[in-house]
Amino acid sequence: MQDLILNNDKKIPLIDYGVYQIPKEDTYRCVKKALEIGYRLIDTASTYLNEEEVGRAIRDSKVLRRDIFVVTKVWVSDFGEEKTKIAIEKSLNRLNIGYIDLVLLHQAYGDYYGAYRALEKFYKNGSVKSIGVSNFYTDRLLDLYMNMEIKPMVNQIECHPFFQRKEDIELMQKLNIIPMAWGPLAEGGHDIFNNEVLKEIGAKYNKSNAQVALRWNTMRNVVVIPKTVNELRMKENFTIFDFNLNDDDIEKINKLDTNKTEIIDHHNLEVIRMLNTFKYE
Ligand code: NAP
Repeated sequence: MQDLILNNDKKIPLIDYGVYQIPKEDTYRCVKKALEIGYRLIDTASTYLNEEEVGRAIRDSKVLRRDIFVVTKVWVSDFGEEKTKIAIEKSLNRLNIGYIDLVLLHQAYGDYYGAYRALEKFYKNGSVKSIGVSNFYTDRLLDLYMNMEIKPMVNQIECHPFFQRKEDIELMQKLNIIPMAWGPLAEGGHDIFNNEVLKEIGAKYNKSNAQVALRWNTMRNVVVIPKTVNELRMKENFTIFDFNLNDDDIEKINKLDTNKTEIIDHHNLEVIRMLNTFKYE
């Protein structure tokens, strides 16, 4: 297991487990299994509607709470200093694991300044150990960074071989904000699991396309949070530190970049309307 260090000196593991789209009834089993396999960071969100099951799996696991890193997110409809305070309290209650390791603002819409101020308060009172954002493009990220007292520790963004986010990552690393890749397997898009370039590279190391894609991101110090409900694939995605890609491999993967989202276009007006009006409760 390898870690990175956040700007508040806390450790964050490079290979993690995401629970988006895992139904409530499967989440407990999946999170317990992931912890057993060795994952130590679980990424959830209020909108995933499975925080309670994540918390229960953590409480029932043999792994000590202090060795587990739990991430959750506040949704846009809960943005605003007062509303975000209530939303974080609800997440703390649903998770029921004492404190939350990292709370992120899920999207860069609505009153995210007010929301971020609430995050800062929870950070200061110690019930949230680190704070950050998600889906912030460089312009909004830099603006927030320049205006807030506690600098974001993480920005979680879509990031995989077909949407590599080179400039975004460069800025984050300059600002000492850890990039965390959601959709690190492009949610299966671009036929990633059969991609010939990844396959050819993987064959040299006896690794799958998924393992090559995850290793590529972690080798540039991007945290990855692949999701799978399948135990074998959980193990597969976790076993990525026993090989290194060489410069030639990396150059070939770099050429796969389409510089376009595979999943959700945050600049599309319909998407902005949808994300601003979506309610999860
Ligand atoms: P992903 O991890 O890129 O891809 C998940 C898909 O790949 C699932 O269909 C999974 O199917 C399949 N898969 C996983 N490992 C595989 C393997 N080794 N071989 C073949 N298929 C494999 O997509 P994601 O779930 O969207 O992203 C991961 C996490 O990022 C989420 O769970 C969530 O925590 C976070 N996320 C955050 C945001 C945000 O806005 N901040 C947005 C989306 C996601 P099976 O389950 O059937 O294996």
